[in-house]
Amino acid sequence: MNMDQIRIALIGMGKIARDQHLPAVRANSAFVLAATVSPHDPGVDGVPHFADIAELLAHGPAIDAVTLCTPPQVRYELASAAIAHGLHVFLEKPPGATLSEVAALERLASRKGVTLFAGWHSRFAAGVAPARAWLADRKVLGATITWREDVRTWHPGQAWIWEPGGLGVFDPGVNSLSIATHILPRQIFLTEALLQRPANRAAPIAARLAFQDTDGVNVTMNLDWRQTGPQTWDIVVATTDGTLKLSQGGAVLDLPHRTMHSDDLEYPGLYARFATLIRAGLSDVDADPLRLVADAFLRGRIETVEPFED
Ligand code: NAP
Repeated sequence: MNMDQIRIALIGMGKIARDQHLPAVRANSAFVLAATVSPHDPGVDGVPHFADIAELLAHGPAIDAVTLCTPPQVRYELASAAIAHGLHVFLEKPPGATLSEVAALERLASRKGVTLFAGWHSRFAAGVAPARAWLADRKVLGATITWREDVRTWHPGQAWIWEPGGLGVFDPGVNSLSIATHILPRQIFLTEALLQRPANRAAPIAARLAFQDTDGVNVTMNLDWRQTGPQTWDIVVATTDGTLKLSQGGAVLDLPHRTMHSDDLEYPGLYARFATLIRAGLSDVDADPLRLVADAFLRGRIETVEPFED
């Protein structure tokens, strides 16, 4: 370790921590993995492990930052404890279970002078930055978002995702909104929503939404967790210069005369950004994607559909 490295603890050693955060931290020389925290996970060989954040903060090694890879429902408590301790905090998406707790965390981080980073991983997919640049000076005619996947494949046994604050099908759906809000040249707002909730669950399994931008252009969104076979994570934007299509969650970009794909850049991009923010003494907390989801719960009609069994 060198003196400039950011000593980081990963909190919540579930699927995303192991699949993405561990390799991304290890691959970025700005960071050194100093500890892990998780109630039921054994941790990682050679790295101090703690069952909860209180134990880490009281008895753990010196650290500078934490990443919270837990479900959103426990994020506020963990983030506020870390901030009070003077640590920089990277929040997995969505940044919280409510908008008001995210705003409260922003205030706490700013008072304490630490970095708060709400990481939207899909924004770092390879096609997203060029899509944003291509759309910046074009006239958009309309857009469709189609995010249809199999919940049994991607979220097996995750009870929290069906509970209030877990977002249901908006857990992946908010990723598409993190891209849409980033690439579309004008602000969008919700005009209509239909949420389909299984009779035995607290959160939606599918949703249809309609948005408008400030020029009156329509954006539609179709989310479904019951998709078997090929999975669909597409955003199509029609413009007066032709159609842009982002597919595979933003990894592939089709423009009228060219196609671009590249390796998975999302989590390396997130950690590069977190390091930059810490070094610059800045925070980055964009709640717009979560705000659109909250509006769907505020304004949407709810239809009860057949029970869902894992
Ligand atoms: P997960 O597999 O259920 O893992 C969550 C982990 O959080 C669990 O392993 C649990 O630890 C831990 N945890 C719960 N409460 C905790 C607490 N109070 N303190 C410390 N650890 C706690 O969920 P996940 O799929 O990784 O998702 C986590 C977050 O990442 C969600 O917000 C999700 O939207 C986001 N995300 C997930 C994916 C994905 O593909 N899965 C992709 C991108 C982002 P124990 O097992 O030890 O009890």
